[in-house]
Amino acid sequence: MKVPLLDLKAQYSEIKNEVGQAITEVIESQHFIMGPKVKQLEDEIAGYVQAKHAIGVASGTDAILLSLMALDVGSEDEVITTPYTFFATAGCIARLGAKPVFVDIEPRNYNIDPTLIEEKITKRTKAIVPVHLYGQAAEMDSILELAKKYDVAVVEDAAQAIGTEYKGKRVGSIGDFGCFSFFPSKNLGGYGDGGIVTTNDDAYADKLRVLRVHGSRPKYYHEIVGCNSRLDAIQAAIVSVKLKYLDAWTTKRRENACWYNDAFNKLGLADRVLITPHESNDGRHIYNQYVLRAKDRDKLMQHLKDNGIGVEIYYPRPMHLQGCFKSFGYGEGDFINSEDAANETLAIPVYPELTDKQRQYIVDTILKYYKDS
Ligand SMILES: *Cc1c(COP(=O)(O)O)cnc(C)c1O
Repeated sequence: MKVPLLDLKAQYSEIKNEVGQAITEVIESQHFIMGPKVKQLEDEIAGYVQAKHAIGVASGTDAILLSLMALDVGSEDEVITTPYTFFATAGCIARLGAKPVFVDIEPRNYNIDPTLIEEKITKRTKAIVPVHLYGQAAEMDSILELAKKYDVAVVEDAAQAIGTEYKGKRVGSIGDFGCFSFFPSKNLGGYGDGGIVTTNDDAYADKLRVLRVHGSRPKYYHEIVGCNSRLDAIQAAIVSVKLKYLDAWTTKRRENACWYNDAFNKLGLADRVLITPHESNDGRHIYNQYVLRAKDRDKLMQHLKDNGIGVEIYYPRPMHLQGCFKSFGYGEGDFINSEDAANETLAIPVYPELTDKQRQYIVDTILKYYKDS
């Protein structure tokens, strides 16, 4: 049996006609840049995330970059974030000339440890960027409390977390900005790059709308320097079709995750493949990834690959150890929980279309590995 890590073809076959029609509508309308489809998706996402505004941009990376630009983050500033994330989180901070100040993760849920943030706040700190990794919410109450106390902004990297909830609130509506990605492998992915920023603040929303069109208003008059970072109309049309199905897909991902948790517990494997706790922070985990943790991760990974199962490491090298950030002076041992996670975590298939047989095969293959080793 072969099980890919993610099967987007299975999803496409269910929505093929609707997507085809949506793309055709954009082409027929000749509204390729901005226009009604982008506006429609912005309204829909604002509603879904329960935020006042949503501003479409070219990617999840640009969602973070433009949010930091809206805060005027520059070379004098520091921005606090987690070293255990996708590169974009830290990369956007560095691209603006600011210093990414890392704070280690809680090993329990892989998100920034809120108890370690305060000691890193200085006069230069401009923002905190928590990441809702794998689709599970970071501990937002503590982060908001610190942000208020020290008057710094909060930019939520919610690229993996559309529909994730924290104490009944949707992520992306909690901090000053919420940054989402429509990269194809996210839970709500387009057929190319795309992203969106959510905010409840009218002035930030206004600034983001100007920043994404080279800082111009009106056209050809520039008060600030911005980017060309618009959400493509064809992508907006596709994502809009997919949004209607998102809750049903999320339910299936959560069912798969629960099923795995039960299976690993029943088989006595729970302490061999330490599973992410389900629903900590009394929130809703949307399982962009279902992640195991094993001391002998590399061998287990090879065994799964040899048996036709798609797996991936998110992420093999924490940000503080990336070559491009050498000048910031971080070194090995600085963030031990992130380093251990990088050595031990492994994502297995959890996508909505996964069949009972496939799930069973994956668990059986893991069980066989531990029986034989
Ligand atoms: C995917 C992702 C991004 C970047 O999104 P793109 O749309 O690929 O630019 C940023 N942060 C995290 C945590 C991500 O997973």
